[in-house]
Amino acid sequence: MKMCIACGMPMTSIADYPLHDLSKSYCKYCANQDGTMKTFDQKWHEVTLRYANNHNVDYSVAKQTAYIILKKLPAWKRRW
Ligand SMILES: [Zn+2]
Repeated sequence: MKMCIACGMPMTSIADYPLHDLSKSYCKYCANQDGTMKTFDQKWHEVTLRYANNHNVDYSVAKQTAYIILKKLPAWKRRW
């Protein structure tokens, strides 16, 4: 089973892949409408909002935490 390189989500079915393209190593949530991978800034923003909502913490705290979470993933490890 593959894991999304950009958010860590397990990709268990073809519906998890962007445009149902099994050659991709990221999930549909990390893809733009044309199937290309979202940028670090886009994911950072998304994860920050989700984390702030789920854990009821300040935006600045969520932003720091989101950065740490994302930096552990293969897509972003080396780039920033
Ligand atoms: Zn993903």
